[in-house]
Amino acid sequence: MAPGPERDPLYLAFTVDVDADANRPARGRPDAVTAGRAPQEAAYDACFEGLETLLRVLERLSLPAALFWEARCLDRLASRNPDLLAQALENPLLEHGGHGWRHEDFAGKQSEVPLGRDETERVLTRAAQVFDSVLQSRPHGFRAPYCRLTPELAQALPAYGYLYDASLARRPGEDWQLRPYRLELNPALWELSLCRGTDRQGRPISGYLWQLLEGRRQVGDYLHLAESLRDRAPGGLLQLALHPWHLLVAEDGAPFGPEGAAVRLRQVEALLQRAAAKAGIEFATPGAYLWSHSNGDAEDRRGAKGGRRREDGTACGGRPR
Ligand SMILES: [Zn+2]
Repeated sequence: MAPGPERDPLYLAFTVDVDADANRPARGRPDAVTAGRAPQEAAYDACFEGLETLLRVLERLSLPAALFWEARCLDRLASRNPDLLAQALENPLLEHGGHGWRHEDFAGKQSEVPLGRDETERVLTRAAQVFDSVLQSRPHGFRAPYCRLTPELAQALPAYGYLYDASLARRPGEDWQLRPYRLELNPALWELSLCRGTDRQGRPISGYLWQLLEGRRQVGDYLHLAESLRDRAPGGLLQLALHPWHLLVAEDGAPFGPEGAAVRLRQVEALLQRAAAKAGIEFATPGAYLWSHSNGDAEDRRGAKGGRRREDGTACGGRPR
């Protein structure tokens, strides 16, 4: 069903987690390393190459996007490729968010080193120092590495200038129509949840493009998700998400090769282009969407009536089921 003239559009945010290539937690340390690297270290070659390509696509299509920066990555980009950094910072359609300092596994789920309050604050302080020096501003949006928002993070984030988190994954339904809501963990923080929907066969699909880039889904699956949400949750925000490195290397760090990378880039570009051409779908950054939809209205009241909201910390980007 196409939306009527007065119907709100579905807002689509293209979000990019800019972090180390094929990153993963390592046991006994809080920071991320690149899969397949020995000795264990974080590499950024694929990230920077993928970012350069993505920025060109976004400029060509004149689409807004949010970059959630791992601060270590931003720092390395500033020293290794200042021109690329300038390109990102000079694009007025881009919003810049935070994604940890060294891509910490704050919950310690895989690293087995959960970060308590003091350590969480130390990490956010180190990240803020990088943002102050490289971005010369503090990000308002945060996405937790591995989408694992801990209570300590939720408590600490507002003091560092963050206004919203975009880490939790939820299923749309009666109690959530893709609208912003205040976090139960800390009502000072807005939550813009990632969506876990279902495809035409009823199988789970996430706005994270992980499965697309791993070759397990097609562009049409995501267009269908967007269209079905446009009809079911007008005025809501659907976030698409990816990692720049994932255009070039697989989740295990193996390179796709020039042909495989070209296919993936074409898929992402086609998805953005086709989504932007659809009636009733409008691109926005999460921050811009939040500013115009956070009047404390719809979602807050709905949440109060519906009792406790489920805050489902299911991992998003990592390995969708
Ligand atoms: Zn990440």
